[in-house]
Amino acid sequence: MRLRLPEERPTEPPTGYKIAHPVLSHDGTRAGFTGVSLGGALPYAVLDDATCVYGLRHRAPHRRCDCGFHCVHDRTTAEALLCTAEHRTAVLLEISVLGRYIRFERGYRYARQRVRTATVGPCACGTVAAALADAGWGRPGWRVLAPCCTACLRGRTSVSLAGFARLAAGGLRVVAGKGVRVAGEASAPDAGGGPGVPELVAEAALLQARLDWFQSRLDRLGERGLGGGPQG
Ligand SMILES: [Zn+2]
Ligand SMILES: [Zn+2]
Repeated sequence: MRLRLPEERPTEPPTGYKIAHPVLSHDGTRAGFTGVSLGGALPYAVLDDATCVYGLRHRAPHRRCDCGFHCVHDRTTAEALLCTAEHRTAVLLEISVLGRYIRFERGYRYARQRVRTATVGPCACGTVAAALADAGWGRPGWRVLAPCCTACLRGRTSVSLAGFARLAAGGLRVVAGKGVRVAGEASAPDAGGGPGVPELVAEAALLQARLDWFQSRLDRLGERGLGGGPQG
């Protein structure tokens, strides 16, 4: 006789928390996430199914494997993971656990998930994030993004928080978490549904920061050009 755990039939999908790195496809048309440990090589979409990370031909999660999506029950447990150096630029995800799951003391291992909310931490300078910018590394076909403020953006590939939510689709909300607020800038963009005034103001601030950066580069080139330096 095989011992079986009691089966649960929740009326609503359970909620869980995890951390992940936001990713942008190389052509800039799709957005998703990539895990910080097991399964980190396989980016996932807002609504996605788990596959066995070891390539085994079974449905994830399998009892005798450790494949499947993973999450914890408590937000604070997931937040604590953001303290380590390598996870500082990861974002906190609130997810719905869908499909089959295996419950553990601290969380779930499961088959399918929907990412409902992504909370983005501050820019490396401490300012509240206005965008997600190229973090300088990635996975094949995917750039990993990190929280960034308008002042630190410079010429890097980036998307606004609202822009990331749009590309990721599936009703994802992207919210700016803690950070020093800059006077005159929009409050934390909260991207869900269509863009509202705060999101549009945030996007305008990003564009302005970009233009300022390009203008400063042009000015520098212009000065060099007037000095009679080599052309081209
Ligand atoms: Zn497996
Ligand atoms: Zn900054």
